[in-house]
Amino acid sequence: VVALTNVHKSFGPLKVLDGVTFDVARGDVLCIIGRSGSGKSTALRCIDRFETIDSGEIVVCGRKVHDPALDLRALRQDVGIVFQSYNLFPHLTIEENITLAPTCVKGTSKAEAREQARAALAQVGLSDKIQHYPEQLSGGQQQRAAIARSLAMRPKVMLFDEVTSALDPELTGEVLKVIEGLAADGMTMVMVTHEMGFARSIADRVVFMHRGKVHEHGTAAVLTTPTTPELAQFLGTGL
Ligand code: ATP
Ligand code: MG
Repeated sequence: VVALTNVHKSFGPLKVLDGVTFDVARGDVLCIIGRSGSGKSTALRCIDRFETIDSGEIVVCGRKVHDPALDLRALRQDVGIVFQSYNLFPHLTIEENITLAPTCVKGTSKAEAREQARAALAQVGLSDKIQHYPEQLSGGQQQRAAIARSLAMRPKVMLFDEVTSALDPELTGEVLKVIEGLAADGMTMVMVTHEMGFARSIADRVVFMHRGKVHEHGTAAVLTTPTTPELAQFLGTGL
């Protein structure tokens, strides 16, 4: 469903992606791990075309993402992305936050969008907060609302960039549970995460990024038995 092939990307003189290749099969969960600055977020953002690339190819749901003729709106409908900061509109209720894109971008009717919002909020366990404003929610609840907003677009792929790193451990758990539920429902997901225990339990594939390259790639087993010293060092297991 998602395939990156030999992707290169620099910011000025800084090479951030140096020939990145990986793919994600339908229904799989791919976890991207690695040190700060290794290019994880950049790789994720390229998938949703929030970044341009210098060379290589990215194909998502049959679309060449960096083709000038790309239908960006269609791509963004297929691929939902959730960041560390929730980016909810503070002056809109949770329901309005969720129905905004479907009604304005997709042309969904108000009534149908409201129905989808209700379903999405039920999926993340926030049915009772539909009329609240973001500031009335905890960080974990806001993050779950942000996930619901993406889900309401009925994406085929979800991208998560360290969605729990701004949260207390307790709130982290409730957000991870939502992501676990999505995985159980067969959602295709790519997530950048520092939650190694979670990655071990949920990942079908793991990509370890190091200096802009995919340094190690495998099943969740690489988190237990890394084959490169760099990954072993990152995991703190020594090798
Ligand atoms: P972290 O774990 O800290 O989130 P990361 O692996 O997600 O790190 P990226 O955000 O992909 O790292 O950044 C990789 C490198 O690219 C960093 O050195 C960063 O400073 C640089 N970088 C990212 N975005 C830009 C930008 N828009 N302009 C210039 N440099 C950038
Ligand atoms: Mg990042």
